This record gives sequence, structure tokens and C-alpha cells, in this order.
Amino acid sequence: MKKYDIIIIGSGLGGLTAGAELASTGQHVLVLEQHYQVGGSATSFKRKGFIYEAGLHMTGQVDKGSDQYAFFKKCGLLDKVRFIPAPEFYYLKGYDYDFNFGNDLEDNIQRLNEMFPDEIWGIKKYFKTIFAIHDQAMEISKKEGLKRFFALMFSPFRYPKVLSSMFQNIGKFLDKIIKDERLKTILLANIGYYGDNPYTLSFLFYAIAQTGFYRKGGSYIQGGSHHLPYALADYIKKNNGDVLTSMQVTHIITQDSEAVGVEYVPKKQKDHSIAPESAYASIIIANTAIPNVANELLNEKDALPLKKKFGKMTIAPSIMTVYIALDKPLKEMGNTRYSSNYYDAKDFSIKDMASLNRSDFYTRPYILCDYSQIDSQLTPKEQGYVVLSMMDYYKDWKDLSDEEYKRKKERASAIMIDRVCENFPEMRDHIIRVEVATAKTMKRYLQTPEGTAYGFDQTPNQAILFRPSVRSPIKNLFFASAWTLPGAGFGGAMSSGHICAAEIKKDLGITK
Ligand SMILES: Cc1cc2nc3c(=O)[nH]c(=O)nc-3n(C[C@H](O)[C@H](O)[C@H](O)COP(=O)(O)OP(=O)(O)OC[C@H]3O[C@@H](n4cnc5c(N)ncnc54)[C@H](O)[C@@H]3O)c2cc1C
Repeated sequence: MKKYDIIIIGSGLGGLTAGAELASTGQHVLVLEQHYQVGGSATSFKRKGFIYEAGLHMTGQVDKGSDQYAFFKKCGLLDKVRFIPAPEFYYLKGYDYDFNFGNDLEDNIQRLNEMFPDEIWGIKKYFKTIFAIHDQAMEISKKEGLKRFFALMFSPFRYPKVLSSMFQNIGKFLDKIIKDERLKTILLANIGYYGDNPYTLSFLFYAIAQTGFYRKGGSYIQGGSHHLPYALADYIKKNNGDVLTSMQVTHIITQDSEAVGVEYVPKKQKDHSIAPESAYASIIIANTAIPNVANELLNEKDALPLKKKFGKMTIAPSIMTVYIALDKPLKEMGNTRYSSNYYDAKDFSIKDMASLNRSDFYTRPYILCDYSQIDSQLTPKEQGYVVLSMMDYYKDWKDLSDEEYKRKKERASAIMIDRVCENFPEMRDHIIRVEVATAKTMKRYLQTPEGTAYGFDQTPNQAILFRPSVRSPIKNLFFASAWTLPGAGFGGAMSSGHICAAEIKKDLGITK
């Protein structure tokens, strides 16, 4: 019988972070990953000398002195994972206006004031409120358990911004303080990092997530985002753990409704009559999606509390990605930005954002990430790599036949390439290879419902205090992923891993 202290289902950043934290305290960790490489969304793949970045466009910085920095240092990640600053937060290109949101906040505000002189009060109010929410939320987050709850509920004068933003959406807040729809669009341009609709996106979550980028800018992991999960997996292995890839967990074993182990099979196993392998541990961590745990991995009776608690929660959209390898960098064809958000539709209001994100590929807003603007080290010298990404929906693909699916993908990438070529006509002659990943691709690789990489929607009633905690209702079963508090993204999933490990350490009486 295989026996471990901790078993982790899935090797996304949440699972690996929790695994590395626990392995560092001497816990014997097993990670089981169904894909042939670790990382989940934090991944890349190779094609003819190019590294195709599949999951990272921008993440926050790892600041010296921060808890994250201490964790990277402890796990020896600082030498293996190099964050390089993105030259700007984002550039927005609207139908007849544009704005570059650079890394200098004061300069951004000054240029916004000059562009929208009637909105100076609203611009000031926007940043003041966002930062106040963030700073108050960080203060509360430093308090322990129940104290955190009481701090919030009984100190309305100390944390007024957090309380007032908790039940609000960002769209409504912007409508209250700003009239110009172009200004609102500029401020919301990167909404795709968090969801597709400003009127259902939690203001509190948005403010916390945006502030880091506003104050410190973003960064990219040189050579590909896979370096981070690879380094975490190495650390777990060096600390007496096992990381097994191509292993599908099929069942969480329970005894008297407590999680005690897992069953798993090799992913490619054709012969279903071969019995699955079992491994046992006193703690099981699900990095796989929470709905998978409820609907696929637990027996019906044990799954009931999970279904009751989370069954009605809505799931965030997926992402469609068009990867384009070029024989010449796009920056030599006129592009000057790393991260550009294109909103090509004319005269729309932010009330139309959700429908635009669901519209045909001719009008769907997209982000163009030009990795040749930084020293990404993804391509051979003198060549280029760009990625187009936009919101995507599994329902649009799931019922298509193989042939229809292929044709729809080809049509989507042709339209998207035409749209890029309107701005950079020369690009068409330099395309070496195009690959497309849809919501259906994401579902296949990540095994998430709807192919999401963001977990549950960050609506006000599903965000922050209302988001699933890392403790599941099943004894000894924990969660560490984008599906829990705080949420998705590299930073969010890793935070979930840290919180999960901290709770487990508390239970096990580990103080280091
Ligand atoms: C195209 C794309 C672009 C993105 N861009 C950014 C970005 O620029 N910045 C940013 O911060 N974030 C970005 N994200 C989001 C971010 O990558 C994710 O939110 C985060 O990495 C999710 O981590 P996770 O821990 O929830 O695990 P996931 O990445 O969801 O991984 C879960 C893992 O569990 C495995 N698994 C599932 N079920 C089983 C099972 N039964 N048995 C074994 N293994 C199983 C899966 O194979 C997978 O490896 C992007 C995501 C995508 C898809």
C-alpha cells in the first residue's frame, strides 16, 4: 500500500505551491497530474524551435521582502524563474481613440486628465477608491480567522471602502463617477483578466487585483511560464516527494466520510479492466476543479455537502488563444506595445461589454501580446511570436462535429489574423505557423468545467468572503486552486496554495 502524508490531485500552481510549502516542512508529498507535463494553465509547448507560451501574458512582480519572495528563496526558485518587467500595463486601441497605460501611475493620471478634462473628479475618485479598498482589504487579511470577520463587520468606520465595495460591481461604480464611455472602457480594458462583464464583476475583487498592476506593473517569466511549475515540482521531488505525470485520479477514497486516499490510472491506459492504483494519506488536496471533486471524484453520499454548498455557483468564461509564429518580430512591422487591448466596435458603452465578449470574432475584443517587445527568449533570434486572446465559451464549440469544429477554428483564426493585419499589414507575409486553442481545448487539457482557467465567476456573491475557502466540508480534504479564495491568475492560484498549506500546518501542529 502506498502511503504519503499529503496527496495532491493536479499540478497547477495552486497544487504545486501547497505541495512545495508542505514538502519544505518534511511532509511526504505525492502529486498526481493527468497531463504529461506539470503546470496546468501555467504551461508552454514547443514547435520547430519556438516556445509557444500558452498561459502567461502578465503577472505581478515578486517584490524583495514580500512573503512570495521569501517562498521563492526558500524553494530555490530565484535562480530558476526570472521575472522580466512588462514595458506597460496595457495599451488600449478603441475605434477612434487610444491610450497607453504605462508603468508610471502619476503620468497615466495626468494624461487621462488631459484627455478627459470634464472627468478629473471621477478619475481622482476612481484611483483613490480602488487603492483605499485594496489597502483596507490587505489590513483585514492580516488578521486571523474570526478576527477577520469581526474586523470587517464591526468596524464600518475603519474599513468603509471594503464594506461598500463588497456587494457592488465595478460597472455600477464607474457609472456613478464617470460619464464618458471611452474613459470607462480605458479603465476596464483588461477586464478579460478577471471576467467578461463589468456589471457582474465584484468591485472588491477587481480593486484588489488591479492595484498591484497599477502600482508596480506586470512581468513575464523569461523562457516560458512552465519554468515556474517545473521548479516547484523539482523542489517537491528534492524534498522526498513524488510528482507523477500522465496519472488520472479517478476517485477520492473515503472512510466514514473522511478523505483517506485516491485511486488513479495511467492516462493512456486503454484496458479499463486493469484495477486502478491506490495511494493513501492523512490529507488530500484537490487542485482539480471543485465541481470535478463533487461530480466525479467522490461517491454520491460524500459529494452531497459539496454539491449543496457549491452546486449553484456560476463558472467563469474560458479563453480562446491564437498563437502566431513569425519569421520577423512584429515590432519590426510597426508594433510598439507588449500588451494591446483592441476594442474595434464603434460607439459602444460598457453596458455592451458582456455582449461584445460573446459576439462574433469580427467584433469580439482581444488582447495582442507581442513577446518580441521583451527579452522573452521564446523564439529563435530575429523571429517573432504573438498571441491573440479573447473570452471564449465552451457552449459555442461543444456540440460541433469534428469537421465543423475544425472549420470554425479555421474561420476564427482567419478573421482574427485579418483584424491584426488591418493594423500591421506586413504581418501576413511573415506568418510561419498558426495554432488555435478554444474553450474545448482548455477543457481537454485542464479538465475544468466549461474549459475555464478562472474557477467560479468573481461575482459579488461569489468573491472574497463568499468564495470557497481552502477547507472543504469533507474532513481531511482541502482545496488549492483558482476555485478558492482569492481566485485565479498566477498570483491568485499560488496564494490559494499558501493559504491551504498554512491551514494544514495549523491542523498538523507544524510551526515552521
Ligand atoms: C490562455 C490562458 C492565459 C492566461 N493568462 C494569464 C496571465 O496572463 N496572467 C495570470 O496571472 N493568469 C493567467 N491565466 C490564468 C492562470 O493561469 C490560472 O488561473 C492558474 O494558473 C490556475 O491554476 P490552478 O492552480 O487553479 O490550476 P490549473 O491550472 O487549473 O491546473 C489544474 C491541474 O489539475 C490537473 N487535473 C485536473 N483533474 C485531474 C485529475 N482528476 N487527475 C489528475 N490531474 C488532474 C489538470 O491537468 C491541471 O494540470 C491564463 C490562463 C489561460 C488558460
